[in-house]
Amino acid sequence: MIVDVNGLRGDFPLLSSGVVYLDNAATSLKPRAVIEAMREYYEEYTENVHRGMGRLAQRATDEYEGAREAVASLIGAKPDELVFTSGATASVNLVAQGLSWRKGDEIVVTRMEHHSNMLPWVRASRTHGLRLRFVELDEEGRLDFRSLEEALGPRTRLLAITQASNVTGVVNDVKSAARIAHDAGALVLVDGAQSVPHMPVDVRSMGADFLAFSAHKMLGPTGIGGLYVSEGARGEISPPWLGGGIVSDVTGEEYALLEFPHDMEPGTPNIAGAIGFGAAVRYLARLGMDAVLEHESRLTDVALRALRDVDGLRLLGPWRSDRRLGIFSFAIRNHSVDEVAALLSEMSGIEVRSGYHCAQPLHTRYGFRGTTRASLYLYNTEDEVRLLAESLGRISAILGRSGPGRATDAPAH
Ligand code: PMP
Repeated sequence: MIVDVNGLRGDFPLLSSGVVYLDNAATSLKPRAVIEAMREYYEEYTENVHRGMGRLAQRATDEYEGAREAVASLIGAKPDELVFTSGATASVNLVAQGLSWRKGDEIVVTRMEHHSNMLPWVRASRTHGLRLRFVELDEEGRLDFRSLEEALGPRTRLLAITQASNVTGVVNDVKSAARIAHDAGALVLVDGAQSVPHMPVDVRSMGADFLAFSAHKMLGPTGIGGLYVSEGARGEISPPWLGGGIVSDVTGEEYALLEFPHDMEPGTPNIAGAIGFGAAVRYLARLGMDAVLEHESRLTDVALRALRDVDGLRLLGPWRSDRRLGIFSFAIRNHSVDEVAALLSEMSGIEVRSGYHCAQPLHTRYGFRGTTRASLYLYNTEDEVRLLAESLGRISAILGRSGPGRATDAPAH
């Protein structure tokens, strides 16, 4: 199957405004099917889930649980292995706070992590007096497996690793990393925020214990995401938050929790969000994740070739399309990365992002004080990618003429 880009662009209302949307690593556009599914919930069957016998409550519960099935199925999981959270950040924090840490535990994190898969581990290590170790990267922005092996040891409790970098688009061999970490007796948490939306992901062949991801980067709404927890790892975490909706029996001081994953979702969940997430995943599944990846790989190829011709452009990460997803973070000489982003929007209507993209240690490792980032999705076209490169060529010439520009010191976010 191939993605019929011209056919599907009509499904995304925002594209009719003429915007060239290349900020997909930040958040994706939403197809009408997602907006419609949420509208339907609000207009036709608003009710709380799990607690009512009425027709509306029944339908809301069925749709909510149906969404769980759809999302779980996309990543090769069973519905009862998937917790709905408010997003990847919440998923990582749930594990960091839900694990019962033991004295002497060590946590291993890679240098390419998003702050959301780094700071929760930094804090857990401080709070519980644990050692935090970093896995270093090679010159191309890829994981150094020797460093990984050195960082892991008999005391490692958990390896936190991203499947795809939100800055370089580099895809890590998480399957091998998980095997090595498991051999050392560690649990493995994979950050799938940038991989699950763009490539086929199968939790079982990957071998992860935990997989965190967000709906809004994969055509779904904001404020909802997933945490896959393997059956084996289930006993390792307990609910960090308690309240209504997760208990089967409460006698005052005693309470009995519902079964996993319901014990992890206290309070009224993001029902409309979950329903929208389900619709997004069904949309992706219809296209096929193989087709999505193939389309974006082709565009990545075109982009890398075109970006090579932009005078003064320094790209973070490898120049090879077989080593990265469609995310391009760069600087033009030492010009302000914010100014480049603003000019792209002003001159060509291209939406991108600038700054550290919540991955400051990664930028620091390669001597970048922020980057401008363009990132693709299934509705982007070759013409849009070419327009990006042409516009950057013009911007490089304009900024070049006006002197060296301001060096960036982007806020960390
Ligand atoms: N990890 C990665 C790799 C990301 O790109 C992001 C989003 N920028 C996150 C985690 C956090 O996702 P969210 O903000 O949706 O919780």
